[in-house]
Amino acid sequence: MQIFNTLTKKKEDFVPINPPEVTMYVCGPTVYDFFHIGNGRTFIMSDIIRRYLEYKGYKVKYVMNLTDIDDKIIRKANEEHTDTKEISERYGNAFLEDISKLKIKKADVYPKATENINDIIKMISDLIDEGYAYNVSGNVFFNVNKFNGYGKLSGKKIDELEAGARIEINDEKTNPLDFSLWKKAKEGEPFWESPWGKGRPGWHIECSVMSLKYLGKTIDIHAGGSDLIFPHHENEIAQSEAVNKNQFVKYWVHFGFLNIQNEKMSKSLGNFFTARDILNKYSAEAIRLLFLQTHYAGPLNFSEELLSASEKGLEKIKNTIIKIKEIRESHKFGNEISELDFHYFKKQFEEAMDDDFNTPRALAVIFDFIKNINSEISQKEKLDEQFYIKADDYLTSTAVNVLALADLNNFKNESRNNLEDALIKTLIDLRIKAKNDKNYQLADEIRNRLKEIGIELMDSKTGSTYKIC
Ligand code: AMP
Ligand code: ZN
Repeated sequence: MQIFNTLTKKKEDFVPINPPEVTMYVCGPTVYDFFHIGNGRTFIMSDIIRRYLEYKGYKVKYVMNLTDIDDKIIRKANEEHTDTKEISERYGNAFLEDISKLKIKKADVYPKATENINDIIKMISDLIDEGYAYNVSGNVFFNVNKFNGYGKLSGKKIDELEAGARIEINDEKTNPLDFSLWKKAKEGEPFWESPWGKGRPGWHIECSVMSLKYLGKTIDIHAGGSDLIFPHHENEIAQSEAVNKNQFVKYWVHFGFLNIQNEKMSKSLGNFFTARDILNKYSAEAIRLLFLQTHYAGPLNFSEELLSASEKGLEKIKNTIIKIKEIRESHKFGNEISELDFHYFKKQFEEAMDDDFNTPRALAVIFDFIKNINSEISQKEKLDEQFYIKADDYLTSTAVNVLALADLNNFKNESRNNLEDALIKTLIDLRIKAKNDKNYQLADEIRNRLKEIGIELMDSKTGSTYKIC
């Protein structure tokens, strides 16, 4: 399997540090509002990587942090005349609800900055002790010139970065690129006690602390949106490698932006849809199908028209899975053997995903498989059980388990509803037959017995319908 590594700027063979374990860290949201579907792309594509690693037999340890203290949270709390804890809990919970609706698997841990203040203070102290950081009247900064290799992820040199980067001007810093590790509390801001006075942690240090605490000094995969390459991830490397004296991350994975009319979807531009609003109109599976049609690293234009088209594309997958499951449950098999090469389709799917998670190619394989399966079913009189077992296994392991394009729990409810409906209609037919035979006693008994279990029949000239009371 190969992954494009932002650090080396090439596709590399994936060799985890301690197989079968794979450690994976994804930068999570700042919880000051509902997240938008652009953030959702990053969360969904990280989930696809994790699911595929699990398909390959790896045991993935997955950590996603929640930034629960930061300027935006403080601003929101002030606007609403409440405290930052109330805001971060409200939107932290909303985040967990929304990612679950997007069928994203739960992380092993969702560490929060405010619950790890002691560890953050410890790492900052270590950085100061080792000469990588300095305190200016309660503000602590990381000195980028002290870290050899600053710029290795973004591929830029310090002097180029100084010229080009949009960074805050601050007289306290030795170098404009130096970044905050600890921010002195301003009047009315929430704070924690520290050796440098009352304050709160900077954003970047949070991720270095959490990944060390939960995943160790070197992690296999670190992922996030490509806007995080600089400065966030560059700074994470500097902090972690300065303290740990070990390579911080083996494979850096960055996701392309979700755009609206070729412009990055973002809160500040106002061109966003919250995941919550989109989920009220479209299924999680349609959103996933839309995202999977583009490689994770490329830009992706978002529109509701594309989502509606995905909803249609999804029907093909869903209907085929339901058909196969229903035939399996009916046990009505024949003895015709299919020549279909299941192994070929499995190999094709794996080759696509092994090639830096090429989901557009993997999808094409799945749709080709579905076309072949359906033509086999329609051409052959009665296929044997093996055919259906293999088809079911293939779609479950690829479309359902890796890509999460269908939810088997929903199907069970759907097919149970279909079964109930068919049973009631059978009883209605039998009652009509009884009436035609002038067996009114039996007809009434059917009506009464159905009523006892909460099903009311309604007769009209055109026949009977029912309602469940
Ligand atoms: P934030 O809450 O802004 O820190 O973003 C959370 C995650 O979403 C980060 O990994 C960002 O890089 C990512 N992200 C933000 N906007 C977009 C976008 N338009 N497309 C894809 N990912 C994004
Ligand atoms: Zn981070």
